[in-house]
Amino acid sequence: MSDQEIRFFLSLFAFFSTMFGACVGSFLNVCIYRVPRGESVVTPRSHCPHCNALIPWYLNIPVLSWLALRGKCANCNGPISFRYTLVELLTALLFLAVFMKWALPAVCHVSPITNVAAVPCYWLMLAGFIVGTFVDFEHYIIPDSVTIGGMAAGLVLSGLVPSLHNETVWYWGLAESAAGMAGGFALLWAISWLGEKVFKKEAMGFGDVKLMGAIGAFMGWQSVLFTLFVSSLLGSISGILLIALGRGKLQSRIPFGPYLAVAATIWLFWGPMLMNSYLKLISR
Ligand SMILES: [Zn+2]
Repeated sequence: MSDQEIRFFLSLFAFFSTMFGACVGSFLNVCIYRVPRGESVVTPRSHCPHCNALIPWYLNIPVLSWLALRGKCANCNGPISFRYTLVELLTALLFLAVFMKWALPAVCHVSPITNVAAVPCYWLMLAGFIVGTFVDFEHYIIPDSVTIGGMAAGLVLSGLVPSLHNETVWYWGLAESAAGMAGGFALLWAISWLGEKVFKKEAMGFGDVKLMGAIGAFMGWQSVLFTLFVSSLLGSISGILLIALGRGKLQSRIPFGPYLAVAATIWLFWGPMLMNSYLKLISR
């Protein structure tokens, strides 16, 4: 293939990754709304939350429909939350980023790391993070389908794609995953137990404990330590900011799942790089 042909196919694949992400984001919106309400994510078809009118497929196109209708229902003019578009854009962007990082070097032969198989695995993991984050913001829970489902998916995919943990045989991939899951689960469980003893109230939800298990199952024990450190840092900074802005109190309840998800996403894209520069810094 000529350079030009390669570039053409790459842009095509990148385009489809983004479009696919937007469509998955559209489905994640359904999950974010319905899973915590105990409704089916398959039926009934999408309807307006105000007037219950069915939304036809041509008004249910990710991002574009929301823009065309200026965030209003075509039937009753009721406001449609920007959150729907935000979730679609976020999913599209993250799907493209995963494609660029894990499939592009392999396809362009610029890097010996060929890990195209990791792409769908990380897509699934990030989809879980997005659902967990937005549900936690609204309901202060993280659905079991995200946390327990994430642990199960992480284990199975690590056996199928051991390169997720830089391994080449399935049982080492599985072993790394199991170690990460157990480590993440035990660490947050210990912290939540300790927090309850010290503060005499629930310091961390059990959903957070299970979510950390899922993070470890997908990315190993190193990701657990990094995620704990960075999420605590982000949580403290935003807590202080909220208090400074008069939007929160020391006692106000802040969902911790979103911080775990953001920190784990930072690890996915930049973690090993950040860790190496940190190790270089302290070894000087
Ligand atoms: Zn309506």
